Amino acid sequence: MDGCIFCKIVSGEIPSFKILETDKCIAILDINPANPGHTLVISKEHFDNVYSIDDDVLSDMILVAKKIARRLKERFECKGVNIIMNNEKIAGQIIPHAHIHVIPRFDDDKVIITYAKKQMAKEQFAEIAKRLSEEEHIEQKGDESTPKENIKEEWVFR
Ligand code: AMP
Ligand code: ZN
Repeated sequence: MDGCIFCKIVSGEIPSFKILETDKCIAILDINPANPGHTLVISKEHFDNVYSIDDDVLSDMILVAKKIARRLKERFECKGVNIIMNNEKIAGQIIPHAHIHVIPRFDDDKVIITYAKKQMAKEQFAEIAKRLSEEEHIEQKGDESTPKENIKEEWVFR
């Protein structure tokens, strides 16, 4: 996408420290790391975020994140790893091109990834669980004369 910094990194227009590459994504070092080894797994194709990204691309990216996590553990002896995907500005997404952070953690590293834990009533949990567990209704676009391979499924959110 025009003007997208991560698209430019994928195309090589902007340099990066690339760690590995698949046909669907690249893994590079974050330019302002939370810790040394902080890696970004970036889709090759431009998707804004988790809502729109193709399933096969996201699946590949999380497997790459796992591979990086294991390398950080084995080669840098980190004590833990945070794997984070920020989606939309309010959730901390600065660059609107889908990416996953892999952040190695060390003793006393002063990295703060936290939130205030809320208390909720049982009824509220029940209502939320109900709303989140309902299946989406899938509408089939097409009619009987439409060849099967041309029938499109469309997600309809209530
Ligand atoms: P996010 O807040 O999830 O959008 O994170 C974007 C990340 O991209 C930040 O951690 C930045 O440090 C990182 N970043 C921005 N520009 C570059 C770049 N040119 N090369 C590597 N990482 C970058
Ligand atoms: Zn992009």
